[in-house]
Amino acid sequence: MKYYDKLVFELSKEGRKGYSLPKNRFSRTLDELSPSNRRASALNLPQVSEPDLARHYTNLSQMNFGVDTGFYPLGSCTMKYNPKINEEIAAMPGFQILHPLQDDATVQGALRMYYELEQALAEITGMPYFTFAPAAGSHGELTGLMIMRQYHMSRGDNKRTKVIVPDSAHGTNPASAAVCGLEIIVVKSKENGLVDVEDLKPLLSDEIAGIMMTNPNTLGLFEVQIEEIARLVHDCGGLLYYDGANMNPLVGVVRPGDMGFDIMHLNLHKTFSTPHGGGGPGAGPVGVAKHLEQFLPLPRVVKNEDGSFRRLLAAENSLGRVSGFAGHFGVLLRAYTYILMLGKENVALLGKYATLSANYIKEELKPYYKLPIDSLCKHEFVFDGLINDGADKAEDAKGVTTLDVAKRLLDYGYHAPTIYFPLLFHQSIMIEPTETESLETIDAFIDIMKKIAEEAKTEPDYLKSAPHFTPISRPDEVRAARQNVLKYQDEI
Ligand SMILES: *Cc1c(COP(=O)(O)O)cnc(C)c1O
Repeated sequence: MKYYDKLVFELSKEGRKGYSLPKNRFSRTLDELSPSNRRASALNLPQVSEPDLARHYTNLSQMNFGVDTGFYPLGSCTMKYNPKINEEIAAMPGFQILHPLQDDATVQGALRMYYELEQALAEITGMPYFTFAPAAGSHGELTGLMIMRQYHMSRGDNKRTKVIVPDSAHGTNPASAAVCGLEIIVVKSKENGLVDVEDLKPLLSDEIAGIMMTNPNTLGLFEVQIEEIARLVHDCGGLLYYDGANMNPLVGVVRPGDMGFDIMHLNLHKTFSTPHGGGGPGAGPVGVAKHLEQFLPLPRVVKNEDGSFRRLLAAENSLGRVSGFAGHFGVLLRAYTYILMLGKENVALLGKYATLSANYIKEELKPYYKLPIDSLCKHEFVFDGLINDGADKAEDAKGVTTLDVAKRLLDYGYHAPTIYFPLLFHQSIMIEPTETESLETIDAFIDIMKKIAEEAKTEPDYLKSAPHFTPISRPDEVRAARQNVLKYQDEI
């Protein structure tokens, strides 16, 4: 039995202790506390020694998987390496002990960081103004759509209540539009995976607030007709929203602002190397074209004539606040560090390397996995399961599915790619290597993917019951998501 098969509660032995409290700091007896501050029953904590506890947490940490543990080709998520210097800078006491209610005069360095990050993102994206308030990409989408609505309403154009979303869009796009009170109109993709401009034309009217697009789209394909789409949408009075989750391959190559977009968000945890989620703070800055600056949420940081900085707290047409204070400072600081560490020359390379890595894997693996759209991709691409020998469309000839391939990858120490998204295919496997992986890492992954394709032929049942070497094998994923039991007992 492995050590981690036991919960820390099961290691507990009456009277065993892994701590000692200094008497002079904890000298008050229970009796001194008022009854309302006392527990009714003893706290049922595990009684373990310090080594037991240290091993418990260390083992738990090793059951986890992250970019620091191994290759993480999770399509759509841009799981690039998070440089340690980002953490070092964010941990500097001068930044760490800042308080958002401090007077502007005492936080000039922090305000300058906001200002310079805005300038850097403006240069990278072609959007001159940014707000840092939104806490995630999806929150940025909502904020951006609110700006879009505000723009139309400020012109007395109240009929524009519909937003066009391609059928390949990420689920957060229609979700954000719905939360914003907009009606969603779906535009179809063509066989080649790109928005069908002929399908778009009849959808355009004076009720359209705008269109939301991801470019490259969720198949990793560049929307080559974007300039025509921008012209059509603008001609009908609508605005273009750019979902910047796929910005990585474009950095240093082309800019959404130049493609005709009016509003966009960036996911700093994707393109700009800040940590992903884990329930912690995130950042989804929203950039806008010049004519929309007036609607940006507050506070924003602006430069005074004497070169100092201040927080702008009121502006006539602003949306107001969409989160507390001016966004998650520590996350913004990590992105700022990343950009400065790379410098202009290297920022311009990251998109190209991300694109090269993805195309290399695609070409190496396409004899083994079905490639529904065989063209040059950007930073990611989608397979539709294993090469089909003519059997059922949903599986390969031996009944091996995309889920089985993904599960087997875990046995080999890889995080699985994104699976069953996008919804355009039945057996989607979406691979995004990012630019931070070496050729050796990518080659090793390709070899394992080929090996799994071989196993699908020779040992299909072994694949169907994978993973075999992880602490748990195949949980009931729906139940695990809907009824998660996160506590040992109901009451402690
Ligand atoms: C990740 C992603 C989002 C949502 O971003 P979050 O920061 O996770 O809220 C939106 N659109 C696309 C295409 C994405 O990949």
